[in-house]
Amino acid sequence: MDAQRRPILPHLAVSRLPAGGELAHRAASGGGRGGCVAEVGGGAAAVTARSRSARTVRRARRPSYDGRMPSPHETPTGPAAPAPVRDREAIDPRGAKRDRSWPPAPAPLPAPVIDNHCHLDFADGDEQLTVHDHVQRAAAAGIDGQITIGSDLEAVRWTAALLASEDCPPSLRGGVAVHPNEAALHARGKDHEGRELVSLEDAIAEVSALLRGPRMAVVGETGLDWFRTSRKDEQARTAQIESFRAHIALAKELGLPLQIHDRDAHRDVLEVLEADGAPERTVFHCFSGDAEFARACADRGWYLSFAGTVTFKNAVALREALAEVGLKRVMVETDAPFLTPVPYRGRPNSSYLIPLTMATIAEVTGTSLEQACRTIRRTTVDVYDWPEGAAA
Ligand SMILES: [Zn+2]
Repeated sequence: MDAQRRPILPHLAVSRLPAGGELAHRAASGGGRGGCVAEVGGGAAAVTARSRSARTVRRARRPSYDGRMPSPHETPTGPAAPAPVRDREAIDPRGAKRDRSWPPAPAPLPAPVIDNHCHLDFADGDEQLTVHDHVQRAAAAGIDGQITIGSDLEAVRWTAALLASEDCPPSLRGGVAVHPNEAALHARGKDHEGRELVSLEDAIAEVSALLRGPRMAVVGETGLDWFRTSRKDEQARTAQIESFRAHIALAKELGLPLQIHDRDAHRDVLEVLEADGAPERTVFHCFSGDAEFARACADRGWYLSFAGTVTFKNAVALREALAEVGLKRVMVETDAPFLTPVPYRGRPNSSYLIPLTMATIAEVTGTSLEQACRTIRRTTVDVYDWPEGAAA
C-alpha cells in the first residue's frame, strides 16, 4: 500500500447529461473543431459534413464521413471524400519505420468468435483496407462479428455515421465514449496541437446522444489511464474520474454494457466501480491485470476481454490471470490496429488475426480451440445482446 495515495474519489458531482434532443444544437457549437452536425431522432442518425476549413494538414487527412464506405479506389480529397479514417502513423512514435505490411491470414477458426473491441476508424498498413475488406477477411478467418469503438469526438461521429449508413455490414456493432485521455484534453480545452476542444460536458453530451443511434451495443471505452496521465496532474485526473462516472451512469441509463480502459489503474478503477455501482454488464477491455485482479473482477461478475497482448512473450502475469479465471467471463478482441499478436507484433492488426490470440487462450485454459471459441462466442452474444443471424 503506498502511503502517499490520495483518495480516488474527490468530492465530484458527475455532470448532469443533457437529453439527446439537445445534440444538434450543442454539436453545432463545436468551436474550433469544425466537423459534423448530428441529428438523432426516430432511431436514425443523419450526419452531415460541414466546413472543415480550419484544419491543419493532419486534420485534412481525416475527412468527415459522407455516409459511404471508404474505398481505396476513390480520391482521398474533395466533397465526396470517402475515407473517414485517421492515420495510425500520426500517433505512433515509430512512424514509418514500422513494418507496415499486413500479416498473412492464419488458419480459420474451427468455430466462430466475435471481436468485441477494434477501431475501424484507424487506417494502417501499406495497403489501405476498407471497412468491408476488414469484415470480409475477418469472416474468412471465422470471426463473424466485430464491435468498432470510437474513442474521441471525431471517431465517435464517424462510428455513429458508419453504423447508421445503409451499407453498414450487418455483422458490425459499435460503441462510443470519451476515452480517459481525451477526457483530460477536453477538461484542458485544447488538444496536443493546441487546437480548441469543446468542454468535457459537451463531449459527453454528444456521446450520450449518439449512443441512442442504430447498432450501438456498448458504452466504451471509458475508465482511467494513469500511464499517460501523471498522478500529479490533478486536473487531468479529476476529469478522467468525472468522465468515467458519467459513462457508468450512461450505461445504466441506456441499459448497455460498459467497456473499461484500465491502464495502470486497477485499484482506482475498481474503487470507482464499487462506489458508483458497476453496470450489470461490465467488461475490462484489453485486460491487463494479474491473477489476483482477474479473480477480483470475476468474483464481482465482470468480464475480461483478452487482446493480442496475451500472446506476448513477457506477458506471463496476463496468462496467469487467464489461467486463474478460465474461460468463464472471458472474451476476445484485437484492439486493432494495435496490439498485433505474436509473431507479428508491431505490424498492422485486424480482426482476421484473432485465431493467433485464440490459440493462446485455448492453450492457457487447457481447452480445445473449438470449445474455447464456442464458449467465448456464447459469452459475447450474451453480454452484447448480439442478434443471432447477423452474419457478415
Ligand atoms: Zn481500444
